[in-house]
Amino acid sequence: MSLAERLEQVRERIAAAAKRAGRSPDDVRLVAVTKGQPIDVLRHAYELGLTDVGENRVEEAMPKLRALAGIACRWHMIGHVQSRKAREVAQHFQMVHSVDSLRLAQRLGRAAGAAGRDLPVLLQFNVSGEASKYGWPAAEPNKWNELLDDVSQVCALQHLRVRGLMTLAPLGPDSEAARPTFQRLRRLRDFLAERVPDASWSDLSMGMSDDFEVAVEEGASLVRIGRALFG
Ligand SMILES: *Cc1c(COP(=O)(O)O)cnc(C)c1O
Repeated sequence: MSLAERLEQVRERIAAAAKRAGRSPDDVRLVAVTKGQPIDVLRHAYELGLTDVGENRVEEAMPKLRALAGIACRWHMIGHVQSRKAREVAQHFQMVHSVDSLRLAQRLGRAAGAAGRDLPVLLQFNVSGEASKYGWPAAEPNKWNELLDDVSQVCALQHLRVRGLMTLAPLGPDSEAARPTFQRLRRLRDFLAERVPDASWSDLSMGMSDDFEVAVEEGASLVRIGRALFG
């Protein structure tokens, strides 16, 4: 199947999931995860209308960014960012989904300020409780109060614009198994929005190839999809 055909299928599945949840498909943005894909594929994807591109490693993303400098892609950083890479990320990406510590947020904020821009970011939470996952630990709702100090400080940083939350569900072919994780992230969003009202909190970045329909049903505004598009 061609990329164009897979893209059409993915878009149809997003639209159907949105409809089931009484949402507009326009409220779900598709981020094409292009890690491991060569420049030609990115160019083709862009021509097909995939204007939001996600990369999870700075070292891999930078050469692609440079090669496609003339193309108006929106670059999303979706993987863990080491502090020493904060400057590059703050200069070149349109959104960072994977802000997972106060320290990284501070670095990104300073770097964005030095670059003369404000950087839209999402805060990554580990709501599944898996030890392997990055993000502030947030699997237990009765401990969410402990997050408020960091979250308030991140939201107060001058050159960051907090837009919402991001998470990764447990991997696996059973998409229903991801539903509680997505529901918990949405509840955490509501919890934070009520207590830290000076950020926008409108975005939920959740859902990948195996579980994006469930994520859309549970309120995802950004889905990050690689394999279902690129094989
Ligand atoms: C690779 C990756 C994705 C996309 O995963 P697929 O299963 O290929 O759709 C989404 N989010 C993050 C953080 C990733 O690293």
